[in-house]
Amino acid sequence: MKTVVLCAGHDYRYKGAYNSDYRIHENTFVKQFIIDLYNLHFRGDIFSPEIRMLLLYIDDNYNITHKNDSLKIKSRFVNRMPEMSLFIEMHLNSFGNTNATGSEILYNNEANRGFCELFAFNFNIYFPWARWRGIKHRTNLYLLNTIKKSVILEPFFLSNNKDVKSFVGNSNNYNMLLMMTAKTINDWASGFRINYEKLLNYRKKCLI
Ligand SMILES: [Zn+2]
Repeated sequence: MKTVVLCAGHDYRYKGAYNSDYRIHENTFVKQFIIDLYNLHFRGDIFSPEIRMLLLYIDDNYNITHKNDSLKIKSRFVNRMPEMSLFIEMHLNSFGNTNATGSEILYNNEANRGFCELFAFNFNIYFPWARWRGIKHRTNLYLLNTIKKSVILEPFFLSNNKDVKSFVGNSNNYNMLLMMTAKTINDWASGFRINYEKLLNYRKKCLI
């Protein structure tokens, strides 16, 4: 049995990035996404019964007075869960240059790199038209430093209206993003690993 925590980046008060054209807050989107992903659990034909999923988002039941409060709450939560296998926190990217686009996944601990490679591989199969920005090793992020089994997903840029149109406005793509994330969790839980030697060159680019 593997326990996977699905977590929404930021919280109800400090909501992260904002797209004023679409009036979408980062926290609002990622919270809905992890709830939709979690609900796939109950269909019975998507996730392996060997996976136990937990949802974590910081709503107004928590007293939040500083933007780092939610990170501390998440660390405390995880410290009480020694059986947790993976902590997936979802964010959306944002940048001053609104042309910045694409998807990336962040990790710190080498033990989580296998999950990142599966995510990269699946993303590139489901969304060959989207830009893949890479698997990024980050040592300067509180979440990745304090929660050893964590990865951060950043599937698109909230600051890019084309990205928002593709992944929020288009329900097909939204559902495909749900399914490919679910598939990645299943692949990872079943011990599947990407074999570099057997990958065709054009697929290798997604793992850089
Ligand atoms: Zn964020």
